[in-house]
Amino acid sequence: MSDYVAGLDLGGSLLKAGLYDGRNNLVHETQVSTPSEAGPAAILKTILECVRELQRCVPGRAAIVGIGIGSPGLIDAEGRVHGPAVNISGWQGTSLSQMVTSESGIPSVAGNDVNYAALAEARYRGCDELAFIALGTGIGGGIVSGGRLLTGNRGMAAEMGHVVVVPDGRPCGCGQRGCVEQYAGARVILEDRKGEEQIGNADTAHGSTGSSQGTSLQTAARMLARAIGYLLSIAAPEVVVIGGGVAERHPEMIQLVDSALENESFPYIRNLTRIEAARLGYRAGMAGAAIAAREARPPRPAAAG
Ligand SMILES: [Zn+2]
Repeated sequence: MSDYVAGLDLGGSLLKAGLYDGRNNLVHETQVSTPSEAGPAAILKTILECVRELQRCVPGRAAIVGIGIGSPGLIDAEGRVHGPAVNISGWQGTSLSQMVTSESGIPSVAGNDVNYAALAEARYRGCDELAFIALGTGIGGGIVSGGRLLTGNRGMAAEMGHVVVVPDGRPCGCGQRGCVEQYAGARVILEDRKGEEQIGNADTAHGSTGSSQGTSLQTAARMLARAIGYLLSIAAPEVVVIGGGVAERHPEMIQLVDSALENESFPYIRNLTRIEAARLGYRAGMAGAAIAAREARPPRPAAAG
């Protein structure tokens, strides 16, 4: 098969791009800095430079037939960015897939970066019921159900970071209090338990109004398990994959979350669910973007005879 696709993962600091062959094997990858302060036009230029580099790596008469771009923010079915994308200035309102399609001449799709990571983890495992949680400064989520990405209205599904786990808890930038991001995001996790804020159980929590206090890894795992408990009741994935920088730095997080789920979820569903570490690491986003680009293509006409 001679058709190649490009998968791009746009981060606040780095743009990662991979060239994938017809069997989804990565054949070339590149990384450049994201000009995140310079506005959408500068980012588009950088995206197109990456695509040109990948095109030079396509062998013989083959071609790139699709481009997938994963980006932070909420991205609707038309590939338009809406809602806040905190790391990239002026990104809101960008018609990402449309701009890349018209500038490159190659059909392009765009979606939320964590959704695409979920898609990749699902396809590489051959699993049709999977949820992915990315633990970074923020907490993102993606759900694959029935083999398809659950995008929801305007791509807003699976925004796991803003599930409230402590009623009246720590204030969050989203306007709520007690979001899981405020207890298990990279910024609040302490390296040891000193100075930890005490958080009660759900029914006793009055929380704290202080936003500067930290959380131990154990408490972060418990709060994350609480959010996952809701997720299990609603989406019933077969596997919950936990990835992102916090999970890479603290591999014990997987076991801690698994144990904490004991008290935070509907036992019958939990017993049928596995909690696993991400397998694709930093490549998950671009791999998923490439898969989305390939799957968006119309099927080839059946060969005659
Ligand atoms: Zn929030």
